[in-house]
Amino acid sequence: MIADPPTFVTGLVCSGAGDRYGANHIRGLSDAGWPLLVDYDLDGIAASVDRDAVSGRPPGMWRYREFLPVRTRDNIVSLGEVETPIVSLPDVEQRLGSRSVLVKDESRLPTASFKARGMAVAVSMAKELGLTRLALPTNGNAGAALAAYGARAGMEVYVFCPEDTPEVNVREIALHGARVWRVNGLIGDCGKVVQAGADEMQWFDMSTLKEPYRIEGKKTMGLELADQLDWDLPDVIFYPTGGGTGIIGMWKAFNELEALGWITKKPRMVAVQAEGCAPIVKAWAEGTDHAEPWEGAHTIATGIRVPAAIGDFLILRAIRQSGGFAIAVSDEAINRAQAAAAQRDGLLMSPEGAATLAAFEKALASALIDPDDQVMLFNCGHGLKYPMPPSDQTLDHIRPIDFAAMAAGRADVSG
Ligand SMILES: *Cc1c(COP(=O)(O)O)cnc(C)c1O
Repeated sequence: MIADPPTFVTGLVCSGAGDRYGANHIRGLSDAGWPLLVDYDLDGIAASVDRDAVSGRPPGMWRYREFLPVRTRDNIVSLGEVETPIVSLPDVEQRLGSRSVLVKDESRLPTASFKARGMAVAVSMAKELGLTRLALPTNGNAGAALAAYGARAGMEVYVFCPEDTPEVNVREIALHGARVWRVNGLIGDCGKVVQAGADEMQWFDMSTLKEPYRIEGKKTMGLELADQLDWDLPDVIFYPTGGGTGIIGMWKAFNELEALGWITKKPRMVAVQAEGCAPIVKAWAEGTDHAEPWEGAHTIATGIRVPAAIGDFLILRAIRQSGGFAIAVSDEAINRAQAAAAQRDGLLMSPEGAATLAAFEKALASALIDPDDQVMLFNCGHGLKYPMPPSDQTLDHIRPIDFAAMAAGRADVSG
């Protein structure tokens, strides 16, 4: 029999007020209404395992089990969370004269987005705490991940998404057996539906940072990155930022690793948003601790269309503590970057991932970063989950084919 993983959780800490809560109870937000973060006995982790032992385990997020809250092995809900590859962009490097531009491609995870990391841990914890009915507002990818992990755990899942959520996401959620509705509003309006139904439906709200465990799953993105790079992190991370779990989770990971002495250098964290929805960029520029809700949010990068994030102050803190910055790019720049990476480097990124490439170009051009910096972009979802530009060339194989016209690049090649 395999022993249960040791747990080093000491409790939950309110990220706003600092008060502490026990870990083995169902909790959403703190009493003061702030996100709760999981606190660990880092000395205990250091005494029980070293980084070489961790690196020697089978790959994937569960090799970092000492840094995760799940107590009982049987409660781990897993769909095969692979170690995601780091892919280079040699054409970008050459074109822009940059030393090293890499992409951590999170699209290879179950349900084709990094939302799987968060939901793997959150659904495992829901199982451990005896929850059976879960609800979520989502722009698509989180809903798909919850639907899949919820199905695996035999739970009832309710999902609410904005009406223009990519079709493939909504169908994926439904095919996993979750109950899903398109809502005539944005993600905040979907969140209000979840709140309004809380008493009558007795569901648990799995919203970003309204429960403490999704962020722990996202943390493994930072742990894995350090591990893959031999504990030598890049100079700058460009991260597509919506609710902020990725930035907050990775920054938590880097701080825990630094406390253990497993890393010495932490990267500058750059929050990338779309010009049509850039509350964090505005707050960063104005030097405030919290962001104002963004009016009339719109962008093709639906995963980062989050007008108001409950963890805004944690995102801003990570950016500032790391010496990073926040930057917005236009949808046109996102489309251009997506096509360039697909055509010249062979990597199909999601619009959110492409936004980090566009932001990198912009930051390099305005000297916010140096050509000598080692840069890591994050592609958090698969390009195939979004509408793609149409391609409608046809060919009549009965008629003669005009190959000269084909070679000349023409669409109509019937002779
Ligand atoms: C959810 C999502 C993001 C942003 O997530 P954060 O919560 O800000 O970490 C970025 N890209 C994709 C594809 C997403 O699904």
